[in-house]
Amino acid sequence: MAIYVLSSSGRRYQIGAIAAFMLCAACLVVPVPATAKNLATRNVILVTLDGVRPQEFFNGMDADIAASEEDSGIDEIDVVRKRYWRDSPEARREALMPNFWKTLAPMGVVLGNASKGSVVQVRNDQWFSYPGYSEILTGQAQPDVRSNDIVRYPHVTVLQYLRDEMKLRPTQVAQIGSWEGFEVAASSVDGAFFMNGAYDSVPAPLSTPEMDRLVGLRTQVMELWEESSNDVLTTRIALAYVEKHKPRVLWLGLSQSDDWAHARRYDRLLDYLHLADQLLLDLWTTLQSMGQYRDRTTLIITTDHGRGLTPKDWIDHDSTIPGSGDIWIAVIGPDTPDRGEAGAAATVHQSDVAATMVALLGLDWRTFNPNTGPPIADAFAVP
Ligand SMILES: [Zn+2]
Repeated sequence: MAIYVLSSSGRRYQIGAIAAFMLCAACLVVPVPATAKNLATRNVILVTLDGVRPQEFFNGMDADIAASEEDSGIDEIDVVRKRYWRDSPEARREALMPNFWKTLAPMGVVLGNASKGSVVQVRNDQWFSYPGYSEILTGQAQPDVRSNDIVRYPHVTVLQYLRDEMKLRPTQVAQIGSWEGFEVAASSVDGAFFMNGAYDSVPAPLSTPEMDRLVGLRTQVMELWEESSNDVLTTRIALAYVEKHKPRVLWLGLSQSDDWAHARRYDRLLDYLHLADQLLLDLWTTLQSMGQYRDRTTLIITTDHGRGLTPKDWIDHDSTIPGSGDIWIAVIGPDTPDRGEAGAAATVHQSDVAATMVALLGLDWRTFNPNTGPPIADAFAVP
C-alpha cells in the first residue's frame, strides 16, 4: 500500500514503508490530558519485583550467564535447561513467566524491550533500591536519596497524595512488602495509611486470624538476608488484607529476586521468577473475583532497577555497572489498550509511574507534583 504525506506546501509525497512505520509510531504517542476522562479504573495496585532485569523479563533464561557454573551459580544445569530453556526469546519468557505473558500481558501494555524499540529507564543516577522506589513513588529522582538506609525522607509520595485527594480512610491505602525499606519509602510520615514492613504484625483492630497466622509464619521462615521476609507470605498477607479492607490503592513490594541475584544463584532466581509469576496471577484472580475490583482495577508491575549485562556482573547493580538503569513497566487494566509487548515508542521513565497512577484514577497529575514525569501515554487509549 502506498502511503503519502502532505508537505507544508500541500504537495503530496510517497514515503517508504520504514518511514511510514516511524511516522505512525510517533503518531501513537499522544500526550495524556491533565485529567483523563471516562476511565473505568477505580483502584490501582502497584506491584514491584526488586531488581528484575529486562533481559530475563523479556527473553527468559540467558544462555551466556548459564554457560558457566562459576558465573551462574547454577547447581543442576540439566534441570534448569529443561524448565526454562527454549529456542526463541518468546518461548523462553513464556516458560519462565507463563501467567504473565499468556494471561496478563495481552490485557495491557508491557514496556521496556529495547530490542523492539521500547526503552524504559530510571532517571536517578544511583541505580539501586531506595532511589528507585523513591522515584517510583514521588514521581521524580530525589537527589538526597543516596543510600538504602531505613529512614524516611520529606518527599510526599503518590500514596499519600491519593489518600488525601480521594479522601480515603487510612485503611483504603496500603503498603505491604517484604523489605524494611518499603515502609519508609511509602510515605514521608508515619501512620499516613496502612503500612506493613518485612516482619510487622497487623494491629489487632485490622487483623484477621488468617493475617495473624501468616505474619507468625513470616517471622519463622528464614530468608537469605535479615532485612527481607518471604514474598509468598507477604503476598498472602496482601490478599487477606484486600479481602478484608478492600484498599483503593495498594503497593505490594516483593524483594527476593534481588536476593537470589546478589547470591549468584541464577537457578534460584529463575525459579523465583516462575513463582512470582504465579503470585501475580493469584493477585489478579482474587481482584477479579471481587465486585469492587472486577473490571475496575489497573495493575502496574515494575522494578526498581536493572542489573549488570555480563555473566560476571549480572548479580550487581549501581551507577558504575552498565544496564543497572534499564527497567520495564507493565500496565494492565480496563483503560489500557490490549497491546501486549510494546514496539517502537518514546522512552518512558521510572518517574512516569506515579503520574500514571494519578491519571488512571481521573485526577490531575500535575497537582501531585509539577516535576513528575508525565503519565505513560501507551497506558491510555488514544482519545
Ligand atoms: Zn540489590
